Amino acid sequence: MFDKILIANRGEIALRVIRACREMGIASVAVHSTADSDAMHVRMADETICIGPPPSPQSYLSIPAIIAACEVTGAQAIHPGYGFLSENANFVQVVEDHGLTFIGPTAEHIRIMGDKITAKETMIKLGVPCVPGSDGGVPDLETAKRLGEEMGYPVIIKATAGGGGKGMKVAESAADMEKAFMTARAEGKANFGNDEVYIEKYLQKPRHIEIQVFGDGKGNAVHLAERDCSLQRRHQKVFEEAPGPAITPEERARIGKICAEAMANINYIGAGTVEFLYEDGEFYFIEMNTRLQVEHPVTESIFGVDLVREQIRVAEGLPMSFTQDDLEINGHSIEVRINAEKLPNFSPCPGRITQYHAPGGLGVRMDSALYDGYSIPPYYDSLIGKLIVHGRDRNEALARLNRALGELIVDGIDTTVPLFRALLEEQDIHTGEYNIHWLEKWLDRTFEA
Ligand code: ADP
Repeated sequence: MFDKILIANRGEIALRVIRACREMGIASVAVHSTADSDAMHVRMADETICIGPPPSPQSYLSIPAIIAACEVTGAQAIHPGYGFLSENANFVQVVEDHGLTFIGPTAEHIRIMGDKITAKETMIKLGVPCVPGSDGGVPDLETAKRLGEEMGYPVIIKATAGGGGKGMKVAESAADMEKAFMTARAEGKANFGNDEVYIEKYLQKPRHIEIQVFGDGKGNAVHLAERDCSLQRRHQKVFEEAPGPAITPEERARIGKICAEAMANINYIGAGTVEFLYEDGEFYFIEMNTRLQVEHPVTESIFGVDLVREQIRVAEGLPMSFTQDDLEINGHSIEVRINAEKLPNFSPCPGRITQYHAPGGLGVRMDSALYDGYSIPPYYDSLIGKLIVHGRDRNEALARLNRALGELIVDGIDTTVPLFRALLEEQDIHTGEYNIHWLEKWLDRTFEA
């Protein structure tokens, strides 16, 4: 059993992990850069340690600084949160080489799934349906052009190491191919140090449906249904819900079983998300994230489970606290991502919070590290809070979201709250009829006028 866990992260997710530790009677260690001395995760943890200057490569991404922080504080395990080092296989290796436990999957699984070509090959072998596309990497423009003709346009060129919406370019026709191919390659090289790309059929009106999976590393794995994260801007999620409004119980059971069996087969340990595009009743695998997702609370809400607690349990060698049969969906949950950004361009808007008031009441959860007088530093991600609501059904959840957004006060900076208030006026949001392109089109329409 762990006595002390170090959280290699900041912001709301660091708080999320501290809370789970406290409920489990485990001491928590917060690490922070000099820009975060006043941050809420530092105030809330049992112990704190400064690991470097503001830029993340010298602090939150510095493997030596984090290992040293474990040694100084006597933490036995590291929870990486999401982002930063959470999907860095080399980090996991170093953690283990120092006799510490990484709360998450093995370095091998992170490596396999972190390379999208290898991930797809692995999933095909495991019987998971994938988006039609190239057989592995596409070495040159000639091959790309030939594949474009064979598959039929539009196609999407993707960097195998890509993430966060970077390194993906759509070619609508043969005329676009050269530019799309070269740009995807260049972005892969510049952002991830790897210029290998592959090609997929570009789906016209899919929904983004992702299956939450969980394994104990000993051949047991379950699925916790799906999240619909189709409302995206620049391939980045802004609004997520569970269960998916377009998914039937039969489809859920079918794809869930495929994912759980695949994870059991590879002895996957911890939380993971198998991402699909869903169109006309078919699921197409796109990638797997080997970590806790930003949007995990909607799954927690409908199942009444604590996924961080489960991550810690399996990292300790314990079994999961539930089986597939225990997992029953209860009601509907929605999360909106509150970013320190100014509309309509979503430009980052750090600054001082002059007043903060979190919404409350039945079925409302606010995961945020904000407080009155807090100054949001300019160095990190613009996510400053997640508002999660739960209702007996989707309509109740939507009404609750509207009510809770009305109670939320974040003064002193601009946020994405007005976006969600406006979205809740839209018929398509109420009927659940949206796909991955809906939000971009809506933004164009709304802000052009
Ligand atoms: P990242 O790792 O950068 O998040 P993903 O492969 O998960 O990239 O894709 C992110 C988003 O890009 C998807 O949710 C979807 O909106 C869009 N996308 C990816 N692949 C396709 C495709 N083949 N057809 C249409 N849209 C796609």
